Amino acid sequence: MTAQIIDGKALAARIRANIASEVTDLHARLGRAPGLATVLVGTDPASQTYVRSKHKACNQAGIQSFAYELPATTSQAEVEALVEDLNANPEVDGILVQLPLPKGLDEEGVLSTIHIDKDVDGFHPINIGRLNMKGRPPLFVPCTPAGVIEMLDATGVTISGADAVVIGRSNIVGIPVAALLRNRDATVTVCHSRTRDLPEKVRRADIVVAAIGRPEMIRGDWIRPGAVVIDVGINRIEDAQSPTGSRLVGDVAFEEARQVASAITPVPGGVGPMTIAMLLQNTLTGFKRTHGL
Ligand code: NAD
Repeated sequence: MTAQIIDGKALAARIRANIASEVTDLHARLGRAPGLATVLVGTDPASQTYVRSKHKACNQAGIQSFAYELPATTSQAEVEALVEDLNANPEVDGILVQLPLPKGLDEEGVLSTIHIDKDVDGFHPINIGRLNMKGRPPLFVPCTPAGVIEMLDATGVTISGADAVVIGRSNIVGIPVAALLRNRDATVTVCHSRTRDLPEKVRRADIVVAAIGRPEMIRGDWIRPGAVVIDVGINRIEDAQSPTGSRLVGDVAFEEARQVASAITPVPGGVGPMTIAMLLQNTLTGFKRTHGL
């Protein structure tokens, strides 16, 4: 079997085009575009790149974006004061604090300060708590995990009743992905660095979600024939053949796994583009909720 390649880039482009057209209509009707504020503390180059691409995506979708950049020496009180200002700003529908924060700042304290109505990253403790409870949907679902579910749905994968294995238990990916799959009636196993016999656990899965941060760790012979594989990992490895001397790979050995799986996401061009599409979607959701739509 050669797997269907789940094209995250194309799916994200379709979602972004739909968002842009809805934003155009709503802007004309309501006299205001949705607004996203980003807060970047420090000068981490990867974070700067992520924030820049979020602003570019907003711009293309007709969403207003406001960039706040603070030095790494900013105090907890100063970051929280900025978030409070943004909570009160009627032009801002979503607030995104780029993680990780520099050492010394209390991430949970900052995230808790974001008003849950503007928590477009879905990381406020109340939104995460609701995500983990039965019958209490959060106001926003974290973007990368939401993108994973969107890709499964777009591929026509039956989640209900499936055995799903999530490798990784981070607050940003593993834990919320597992909650979303469970909420959709999958039977979920969460694996992590202390899991015994990981290949055996992965072999049970109809749906595999890898969010580890280890290049090509999940091998093809770990995948049950016909399983669906969603690779969240983004890892840069050396590659003498590449003009830049390096290339991106996922957490799954793609060439091996595609021989066995029924569908698989590539890296790059899989989950990555979906994350930004879901952020725009969440910002639009926040804007519509503010207007009672
Ligand atoms: P993290 O470092 O916070 O968590 C990694 C998880 O993997 C941990 O829970 C750990 O227990 C588990 N793990 C580590 N080694 C393991 C092992 N040997 N066996 C089993 N489990 C092991 O990482 P994260 O923030 O969840 O990110 C994971 C990957 O996803 C990274 O490559 C990151 O770059 C990528 N990522 C991609 C997107 C996207 O938009 N596509 C978004 C967020 C993260």
